[in-house]
Amino acid sequence: MRIIIWHRNDLRLHDNPLYANLKAGMEILPVYIIDPDFYTFKSDLRSRIGPFRAKFLAETLDNLADSLHNKGLQLKFFEGKPAEVLERLVKEHNIDEVWATREHSAEEIADEREASRRIAPARLRLFDDRTLIQPDRLPFAIGHLPDVFTEFRKKVEGYSSIAPLLPEMPAVKMVSIANEHINKFDPARYGIPPAIADQRANFDFRGGETEALKRLRYYFHQSHRVATYKETRNGLLGGDYSTRFSPWLANGSLSPRMIYHELRNYEKTFGSSQNTYWMFFELLWRDYARFVVMKYGNRIFKPGGIRNADNPCQMNPLSFEKWRTGNTGNDFVDANMRELLLTGWMSNRGRQNVASYLVKDLKICWIYGAAWFETQLIDYDVCSNYVNWMYVAGVGNDPRENRYFNTSKQAAMYDPDNNYRKLWLK
Ligand SMILES: Cc1cc2nc3c(=O)[nH]c(=O)nc-3n(C[C@H](O)[C@H](O)[C@H](O)COP(=O)(O)OP(=O)(O)OC[C@H]3O[C@@H](n4cnc5c(N)ncnc54)[C@H](O)[C@@H]3O)c2cc1C
Repeated sequence: MRIIIWHRNDLRLHDNPLYANLKAGMEILPVYIIDPDFYTFKSDLRSRIGPFRAKFLAETLDNLADSLHNKGLQLKFFEGKPAEVLERLVKEHNIDEVWATREHSAEEIADEREASRRIAPARLRLFDDRTLIQPDRLPFAIGHLPDVFTEFRKKVEGYSSIAPLLPEMPAVKMVSIANEHINKFDPARYGIPPAIADQRANFDFRGGETEALKRLRYYFHQSHRVATYKETRNGLLGGDYSTRFSPWLANGSLSPRMIYHELRNYEKTFGSSQNTYWMFFELLWRDYARFVVMKYGNRIFKPGGIRNADNPCQMNPLSFEKWRTGNTGNDFVDANMRELLLTGWMSNRGRQNVASYLVKDLKICWIYGAAWFETQLIDYDVCSNYVNWMYVAGVGNDPRENRYFNTSKQAAMYDPDNNYRKLWLK
């Protein structure tokens, strides 16, 4: 049997159903398809992917290519619309099935449908692997997902429904194909400017599952930071106040099940605590965001959000530009926005504050903020981003009406000595 492994946000070999479900002797063709319409850099404001995430993705793909190479396989790169590329490959190489990880947002679903149509009679087989709890293990149909996180959490808690880690791939062969004209993802080819690391960046993110697993080991077993996670997770300074797993989770170079089982092992050896529990709690938030998207579809991209609220989309280009570049005059907001602009990263505390400030103080529609985060964040994930933005904007899953982040109070609480602001505003 000949199978194309169509990689999307599943860029790893460990705990990956695309490889674990192969049978010895099968022939495979692992591919990554770059759509130039998506990747070509237009301007800071009109590009889907900015320098920091592009660099992280390039490193991730290099690492995946190396890991496959060590198994005698090759990751092949193609340019074009995924469905068109797949159609051509299926026909040219007598492919029986295309395997991919199922996505849940509009463009990705459209790609899947188009691919399925074009490759027929070959079959597109989709694996549910973007969440810790697989959708078919939920104790309710997705249409009955509670709209409040706490209710969801109470229904799914009790660690029982999480699958074990998947086995490694068996020995398989490579479908042999001629060399393509591109052999890696190079951001410069799409005009994406180089990501120049700011000296003040407090973490050196490097893409790829090798780095992800290194970070996992460090966070649990070398530094034991997990034992203080809940106490430190709202921090702003330094590399270890939170796990930093999100960029690897976002492009699938780290499996959430891997984190979960590492957490359980840690608890068995060192005991459980509020701190270890809270990491599970946050991973549930990540799942919840995706389930919200599965339930509400395209409504997550509308100003009125999942509530269908009457929310006229307002913009003030000058104020927005000041917000984006960290020049609003609000020192806490500016420090956070500069960190995002210059590194591709911002803490969770920072994200909540800058989002609230854009929407509630500057009265600018959250959609614009979400789009800037999409370009800029190294850990951008469509579900986590849009669901969190809707939450802060009051058109999502927040049960409290009119939640407002008082940025002065927040700064006093989370940056009492002004060190974070001093770092980024100097
Ligand atoms: C406006 C806004 C936009 C956001 N956009 C994104 C995004 O594009 N991608 C993204 O991964 N996260 C997003 N988040 C959620 C959160 O800020 C990040 O997941 C977190 O800061 C990542 O750092 P960490 O890995 O060190 O998190 P930790 O605190 O160590 O948490 C562990 C993991 O739990 C998950 N998690 C934690 N908090 C959340 C949350 N609120 N929602 C969903 N998952 C969560 C993440 O996968 C994270 O890696 C956003 C939050 C806000 C307020």
